[in-house]
Amino acid sequence: MTNKRWTNKQLLDLATKYFTEKAIDSPRLCAEILLSHQLKKTRIELYLDYDQPLRKEEIEGFRTLVRRRVKREPLQYITGHQGFWSLDLMVNPAVLIPRPETEILVEEALKIRQSGLLSNDRTTMILDVGTGSGAIAIALAKEIEGARIWASDISPEALQLARENARRYNLGERIRFCEGDLFEPFSDNSVAFDMIISNPPYIATEEFGSLEPEIRCHEPKAALDGSKGGMRYIQRLIRESVPYLQGGGWLLIEMDPHQTERALNLIDSERCFDYKERVVDYRKSYRMVKAQKKHG
Ligand code: GLN
Repeated sequence: MTNKRWTNKQLLDLATKYFTEKAIDSPRLCAEILLSHQLKKTRIELYLDYDQPLRKEEIEGFRTLVRRRVKREPLQYITGHQGFWSLDLMVNPAVLIPRPETEILVEEALKIRQSGLLSNDRTTMILDVGTGSGAIAIALAKEIEGARIWASDISPEALQLARENARRYNLGERIRFCEGDLFEPFSDNSVAFDMIISNPPYIATEEFGSLEPEIRCHEPKAALDGSKGGMRYIQRLIRESVPYLQGGGWLLIEMDPHQTERALNLIDSERCFDYKERVVDYRKSYRMVKAQKKHG
């Protein structure tokens, strides 16, 4: 392949065919994204220069990227980027790749704020538990100008990346990143939040083995595995968030649709919340539960 004068079009056709044989999702798109990443061009530019021969190093570089993808490494870890909300976030294997469904947590948080359900006489305080790449915290900091945002994670590597992502949007000063398990960084009880938001690990351990290799072999298990039944962190969030919520404050948790009913029951059994609701995602599946703590 290296002796020939390959053009963009020929390389794209070849890679598409190879990805198709290897049952890689969206083969053409995948080839285009990898070639644009290699050549530092947009996908449109690939077609504008489609018959221009490529240099040997460019072809070699592209082949390496194609091989990585065939080993089922997620495209986002190869390019180092993922879009979320209006953001372009950097991602690496220390963090879960943000999913489109998670945007509903941001949407719901904005709705709660806009509907005047929170106290207006002071700054809104929001915590993103298990922030990973920082997706939720950064989207909210960007959307809600006056709010004070905290973001916690147990992984120092994740926090480092989340900080870099925040800095790229000049939001580094607006978000406080804290290392620790769930609410541990706040256990001196110095802050109470108006909203606590989390996309915790919620895959059942017994189902972990049947996930796609992209997820199972490449994404951080600690960000996915919610123990037996997948409810461990959902349950802990419902129990442990109560002292960290203001009266009238809201808890928003992403989960699997089949977990929402149990989560609602757990919320009831806490006896600290007086409102609860499930919210559907873009596929019309229940993807999150929100609950409001009793006032006073
Ligand atoms: N929605 C993710 C998936 O299906 C799981 C995310 C999580 O456990 N927080 O891969």
